Amino acid sequence: MKAPVAAVAVLAFAWTAVPAAGAEEPEGKGPSFHDVHFHLTNYVQRGITLGEFLETAGNEVGRTAVFGIPLQQKWDYFESGERAPDYYLHSDAALYYYSFVDAIIAEEYQLLPPEDQARFDPMITGFNPTDMYAADHIRRVLEHYPGVFSGIGEFSIHKEFVTSKILGHTASLRNPALDRVFDFAAEVGLAVIFHNDIDVVLPTQAHEPVHLAPVRELFGTHSDVTIIWAHTGLGRFVAPAGNHVELLDALLFDEAFSHVHCDLSWDEVAKYIVRDEAALGAWAALLERHPDRFLFGTDSVAPGDRDKYLKTWRDYEPLRERLSEATLHALTIGNYERIFDEANRKVRAWEARQLIE
Ligand SMILES: [Zn+2]
Repeated sequence: MKAPVAAVAVLAFAWTAVPAAGAEEPEGKGPSFHDVHFHLTNYVQRGITLGEFLETAGNEVGRTAVFGIPLQQKWDYFESGERAPDYYLHSDAALYYYSFVDAIIAEEYQLLPPEDQARFDPMITGFNPTDMYAADHIRRVLEHYPGVFSGIGEFSIHKEFVTSKILGHTASLRNPALDRVFDFAAEVGLAVIFHNDIDVVLPTQAHEPVHLAPVRELFGTHSDVTIIWAHTGLGRFVAPAGNHVELLDALLFDEAFSHVHCDLSWDEVAKYIVRDEAALGAWAALLERHPDRFLFGTDSVAPGDRDKYLKTWRDYEPLRERLSEATLHALTIGNYERIFDEANRKVRAWEARQLIE
């Protein structure tokens, strides 16, 4: 069951040193970006293979943090009859945690030749964050598939219409099961991609976003974990408050949160950032003040072709145009390599220790 992890650990760092695979690429032309947020499969566990993804994405993308979706949309015949829903907004039927997703991702990865494996940083997602046993699942996946995973996520606690559709106890930031997940991430050195909307779908304007204080408390408690806050707390139905950039600015300037990063991903979030000159100016200035804290991701889900895959990348172009070269490089390449190289080093070392014990 235990594979020799040392050999894999070396390969995991090979991509940056290896020239782009396409011979027609001009020499020295590296990838445009690493993708910190990519779903290989959708809400009914269907998608594309990693090999198909590499063909689709081409050399535009260097490395990719890849995961499935931890939730399965139930096809409830009594609810939708012959209509088979494949998205959480296409049905009133429940979602449930689908742990097998981690085996799918791991075995996809193991099928790849080493030079292609070096282009992926697979993530564990198939745990129920309300279960005190959730950390046990993560440990079990690492033990079954050593040499594969770099982190956990994207997993969600508060997410608009998703959270309330999940069978069983409602996920929340105050649940001690979540602390156990973060504690285990710290022990292993797993990078964490964490989705938590900053507010409810219909905000109460008089107050600060309702999830901001508990998010800050959670982040503050787990200062030994490298956290990537997906979409800065925004989403399809959660628009930025008027002072969202200021709230992020305060968070990122606070030394208590120096382990917290944000991803700029999802075309549904790009729409807020590129909305007008004022928004673009504010976000560009925010990134310039905190160049080491943002990572680009597509949040693409099992894309059928390159055009679909690159939509989010294209949507963020007006923002990229406003960034200095150094900040742009950090957003698209540098921060990803720093965070995931370190995570891979730590996780491989933890796995090696398990072999000895
Ligand atoms: Zn996502």
